[in-house]
Amino acid sequence: MFADLHVHTNVSDGASSPVEVVQYAARINLRCIAITDHDTMDGVDTARVEAELNGVDLLSGVELSTECDGMEVHILGYCINQENSNFKKHLIAFQNARLSRARKIISKLRHLDINIEINQVMELAGAGSIGRPHIAKVLLAEGKVNSVAEAFEKYIGIGRPAYEPRMKYHPLEMISLIKEAGGVPVLAHPGISCDEKLVRCLIEGGLQGIEVYHPQHNRDMEKMYLKICREHNLIVSGGSDFHGLGVTNHGKLGESVVPYETVNEIRYTASKNQAELI
Ligand code: AMP
Ligand code: FE
Ligand code: FE
Ligand code: ZN
Repeated sequence: MFADLHVHTNVSDGASSPVEVVQYAARINLRCIAITDHDTMDGVDTARVEAELNGVDLLSGVELSTECDGMEVHILGYCINQENSNFKKHLIAFQNARLSRARKIISKLRHLDINIEINQVMELAGAGSIGRPHIAKVLLAEGKVNSVAEAFEKYIGIGRPAYEPRMKYHPLEMISLIKEAGGVPVLAHPGISCDEKLVRCLIEGGLQGIEVYHPQHNRDMEKMYLKICREHNLIVSGGSDFHGLGVTNHGKLGESVVPYETVNEIRYTASKNQAELI
């Protein structure tokens, strides 16, 4: 009985809808999945309804992008009280910042004589989080590039001429924000972009778990993060970072999993965090 605790949907930059993702999870017999879209929790309620119909346990989550010392650090937040007004305010600010960033990227593209409209990008993103993948897909649809990868390589990837950074938050700020909304902060895929010193600094700042198991972690990384979790009594988490059926540059659903007990551990930690807020 396994749980995949890092899953994206088309509410952010995934290719499959929350309903499709849950149905797929049921087909491959996952007991639980966590929906962890970038900077939004808008997919959680739809996923939960479908999860109940399919006998899948749904854990609510979000993945927040932060930066520290030039490193991109992603913080997962589980069991957040979605009605928390400060958290809601931040999610709205993230969405607004993503929209104005997309406008800046489009204006940089215009200077390169590549004309696409913000409405095309907004239409593709729907009600969800606008990201560079949406801009890349519009560039592809308009025949400006031959693939999404080419859009990143030529124009919108880091250091490319139409690149625009995201609004930058510090990971410690986001750890506090999640906890103050009753949630459980877990460091996502530290093996991709964090050093050990930073991981230890985040633990001092209230981090409660580490994503030890991730498709881009090798055995040595798993061992190292497992050891850190044991030392500090942190939740040992894991997930595939699934971005949709047919998407090949991210993990397959269920590729990295944890035992179902981890879900109980996260919920128990959330209930303790919530009790401490009262
Ligand atoms: P954003 O949150 O708008 O900065 O977009 C980040 C997302 O873009 C990541 O989650 C990836 O899914 C995608 N991405 C980043 N670099 C590339 C790349 N070189 N090729 C394809 N997709 C990428
Ligand atoms: Fe993503
Ligand atoms: Fe991430
Ligand atoms: Zn992710």
